[in-house]
Amino acid sequence: MNMTSSYDKTHALHAAEHVDPARLIGAIDALATIGARSDGGVDRPALSALDIEARRTLIERAQTLGCTVTTDACANLFFRRAGDEDLPPVMTGSHIDTQPTGGRLDGAYGVLAGFECLAALADAGVRTRRPLEVAIWTNEEGSRFQPGAMGSSTFVDPARLDGFRTVRDAAGVTFGATLDAHRTAFPALDTRAPQHAHAFIELHIEQGPLLELADTPLGVVTGIQGVRWHSVRCMGAAAHAGTTPMAVRRDAMTLAVRVRGAIEACALALGGDAARITFGSWNIEPNSINTIPSTVTFTVDFRHPDPAVLARFDAALKNCLAPHGADVRLEPLFEHAPVHFADTAIARVHEACDALGARSQPIVSGAFHDALHLAKVCATAMIFVPSRGGISHNPLEATDDADLVLGTRALAHCLVELCNEAR
Ligand SMILES: [Zn+2]
Repeated sequence: MNMTSSYDKTHALHAAEHVDPARLIGAIDALATIGARSDGGVDRPALSALDIEARRTLIERAQTLGCTVTTDACANLFFRRAGDEDLPPVMTGSHIDTQPTGGRLDGAYGVLAGFECLAALADAGVRTRRPLEVAIWTNEEGSRFQPGAMGSSTFVDPARLDGFRTVRDAAGVTFGATLDAHRTAFPALDTRAPQHAHAFIELHIEQGPLLELADTPLGVVTGIQGVRWHSVRCMGAAAHAGTTPMAVRRDAMTLAVRVRGAIEACALALGGDAARITFGSWNIEPNSINTIPSTVTFTVDFRHPDPAVLARFDAALKNCLAPHGADVRLEPLFEHAPVHFADTAIARVHEACDALGARSQPIVSGAFHDALHLAKVCATAMIFVPSRGGISHNPLEATDDADLVLGTRALAHCLVELCNEAR
């Protein structure tokens, strides 16, 4: 057999054409019933009884598709379709846990599109050189257990798991206890050691308005923007609101509002249209209608795709605060560098969009995803489809069926091409 011609370019298109719209939308509808909210949204906390029930339905479906199902120490699930050669697999997938006020697509779409690709490859009779794996990554949302993306971050750095096991949810249940319960729920699944992946492609809803505004059905995601979190504490002196003349006040809120304005101006000047600056959490002491505030603490969330801009922002922030001396204190809380996906994987996504004759545009992800972690260990990229009204983490989250189908076709094309790469 001629191995070169047995993996020709027509296979990817053939697989994409076998994506079945009714089967895909039916699978999305069915999963959304597990944890359904009365308002049309989904509330399916990580490793809850609902999550276990959802996983059980997907394990059964994978077995009927002839896939091997395994788990790992962090309860990630792997659904593997064998390849012709025993090489590292091409992976896709996402998460099926949701926010408490979640929609039906965030995460679930990427997993179910992966399943649709497994079914389409079977229907099309397409064999691939490498195995294809759909993954469900545990606790991506971070709403039951913090931080988020425990499953995918543990996949790339298993040493993190010990620290995660002792994390408790609001009811006092440890993450470790839920991992043990998952193990008990699925006694027949083999637990596997960490494995190398050839590539990872995550299909996800955009969760923002850019594709819809541009009337473009597919986003070729080039990376994920970086973030800086800080806390800013402004000090004044509490005094009587009625008796203290304006000129002698030390009002912490007046100071905080001035500092907030300066930080925003500097973020926008440095970052331009790509800057995202948010002051989302405020704490006022004593928080009384007739007392001048003595202390105001607020948070800064600054995001940008360019690491140089993030570094300049750090310096500019110190300059903004310097004139206020000891009255303003800055505390860094968290940071994550921007991630640029692998050019080889981005090219495969682009190629898939072109092969389908679909309009696409490059886009940087505003939100974190499991792909952020996978990008550290294998060639990674993402595909976005538009979110209606840019709405997400909300029961109103929606995407046109035609876009959901097109995204899945692009995924199928891309996965087959990557699966047939010899190296
Ligand atoms: Zn998600």
